[in-house]
Amino acid sequence: MERKEIVELINKAEEKCSEEFDRIDSLEFLYSNKVLDAFQKNNVSEGCFNGTTGYGYSDLGRDTLELIYKDIFNAEDAIVRNQFISGSHALAKTFFALLRPTDLLLSISGTPYDTLHEVIGIKDNNSSLKSFGIKYDEIDLVDDDFDYSKIEDYLNNNKVKVIEIQRSKGYSTRKSITIDKIEKVAKLIKSINKDIIIMVDNCYCEFTEEKNPIEVGCDICVGSLIKNLGGGIAPNGAYVVGRKDLIELVGESLTLPGEGKEVGPSLGINKQFYQGLFLAPSVVASSLKVATLTACVLEELGYDVSPKYNEARPDIVQNIIFNNSDMLIKYVQGIQKGSPVDSNALPLPWDMPGYDDQVIMAAGCFTQGSSIELSCDGPIRPPYIAYQQGSLTYTYGKLGLIKAIEEITRG
Ligand SMILES: *Cc1c(COP(=O)(O)O)cnc(C)c1O
Repeated sequence: MERKEIVELINKAEEKCSEEFDRIDSLEFLYSNKVLDAFQKNNVSEGCFNGTTGYGYSDLGRDTLELIYKDIFNAEDAIVRNQFISGSHALAKTFFALLRPTDLLLSISGTPYDTLHEVIGIKDNNSSLKSFGIKYDEIDLVDDDFDYSKIEDYLNNNKVKVIEIQRSKGYSTRKSITIDKIEKVAKLIKSINKDIIIMVDNCYCEFTEEKNPIEVGCDICVGSLIKNLGGGIAPNGAYVVGRKDLIELVGESLTLPGEGKEVGPSLGINKQFYQGLFLAPSVVASSLKVATLTACVLEELGYDVSPKYNEARPDIVQNIIFNNSDMLIKYVQGIQKGSPVDSNALPLPWDMPGYDDQVIMAAGCFTQGSSIELSCDGPIRPPYIAYQQGSLTYTYGKLGLIKAIEEITRG
């Protein structure tokens, strides 16, 4: 297709998406308001941007930021650190913090995210939870919803310590899980046994719906700072929010027993964490709009997409189902061509650590692996789905989309 033709197509799609865009604007307002309130309530000052070194005792910026995260999530406590490499590391640390030998971990959203397979022991590893005698089981979703009766039956017959829920779809073909469904299942779990710890993998889902998992009855929630809440500014890191006693355990798991959250130098990173969080409501809104537009345009071009442009959008991820490996590869290469960094690099499928299939990845990003920046990836396996997410601004996302469409419609 000619560029002019593509631009016309996109202009039409934008009109069609106007109701969705309005809804996204109100989310941006809601969360900007929350973030600003939390900054003001906790007296963010220039001093917060100075980091500590060494042990990192009394790091004003770090401690204040954690109060801000706690307030934004309506949680009892939070830990937000650059010592977490990324979301996967924070998820692993949280599992090891909460579980002891002979305890049982249950996933109720099917098989967890690829990087957790060796952590749990679904795939053998000498340092897995399984190697420490921690048991694991999973219950699949049915029709993109929890299997409520099976969960009830399972909990009545087994002593479960931690339940894991992954909101975003990961590299699966299911839909991401809305907060309403999480509320419903959390009520069910707590009605059977209030002591079960409900842990949520919240990656990609921050600021996409009006409530968060802690506000609907979950105990602890984990996310990556190279995704939504880093706002494209945080160069690495992750957060965990939730019940105070549980966050204390996570702190001792991340650093060391006896010191926990009290140590951990922020070095020079505080300002970036603050500025990233400050921008996050707008960057998530841009990402949601680019995802919505992509769904609308690609569907117009005859591709199957999930979610559709006017469906619920509990995360920033857009799937395009190509049913053809060549088209998937071309689309991903097009997104790379439309990127600000490494636009001349040609991504090819490769064996990524932590993932089972070969993966192709477009990541012309300022931060390596950042997926709050416009990025697109997909495992090379049927039905050849592109997982596209992010965009620091709406317009840059639109330009990336134009390039990708040029690639897949080239004769
Ligand atoms: C991205 C992601 C992770 C891992 O986060 P990283 O920061 O990439 O380590 C875990 N779970 C889900 C659902 C994700 O999308």
